[in-house]
Amino acid sequence: MNDEQTGAPRKRIKVAIDGPAGAGKSTLAKRVADKLNYLYIDTGAMYRAATWVALEQRADLNDHNRVIELVRHAIIELKAPDESSQGRVRVIVNGADVSFIVRSRIITKFVSAVSAIAGVRKILVEKQQKLAKEGGVVMDGRDIGTVVLADAELKIFLTASAEVRAERRLKDMREMGQMQDLQTIIADIKERDHLDSTRETSPMKQADDAILIDTDNYSLDQVTDKVLELCVSKIAE
Ligand code: C5P
Repeated sequence: MNDEQTGAPRKRIKVAIDGPAGAGKSTLAKRVADKLNYLYIDTGAMYRAATWVALEQRADLNDHNRVIELVRHAIIELKAPDESSQGRVRVIVNGADVSFIVRSRIITKFVSAVSAIAGVRKILVEKQQKLAKEGGVVMDGRDIGTVVLADAELKIFLTASAEVRAERRLKDMREMGQMQDLQTIIADIKERDHLDSTRETSPMKQADDAILIDTDNYSLDQVTDKVLELCVSKIAE
């Protein structure tokens, strides 16, 4: 797309969205990417796919070399959402559609252990950086602004209280036909945040130059508008 005034190709920026589980990152990232006609990259889906590979092969998650080898040889692809995936990115591993299972409770329970393995992160971070090379991307995760796209023009750290995040997760799970009670979800979310923010390699952390958005008191529409506004001003810079 060209700039309306100068006719020069419009700058295609990199947008990094980080934050804890259930803050609404993926919905926000997808909406922003759609509006700008950018590529949306759900890095959490990649770690979930890696976890699925390890569990499917019955690997001992403490055997890091084995997990790393399995992830190295897996072909992990992310595809645009379709009706079957309820608006979520589709996850294909070695040709099999695992979109539904990677978002199950069992994968969610083990994903922080797999994502804490430095060798697994190295493989996936390389893939993520390759996908973002040309710009024009919105990527969400935990270490995007700090590590993966440390050069992103716009960095957002999206958060909300654990209770609000758990309510949203409960709604998502109900839509996917998965039943769980709120207290269990709150406990799971807190545990995952703790593991993700205290691990040695690339812990979840707000980048120094990221903008903090607390979504407790804002609707998703309001947050999307705000982030789009920020994108437009970065593109114009
Ligand atoms: O975003 P989502 O909840 O799907 O992420 C699942 C898990 O993947 C996180 O809890 C975290 O352990 C891991 N993750 C990560 N780094 C990222 C994205 C996700 O470690 N960039």
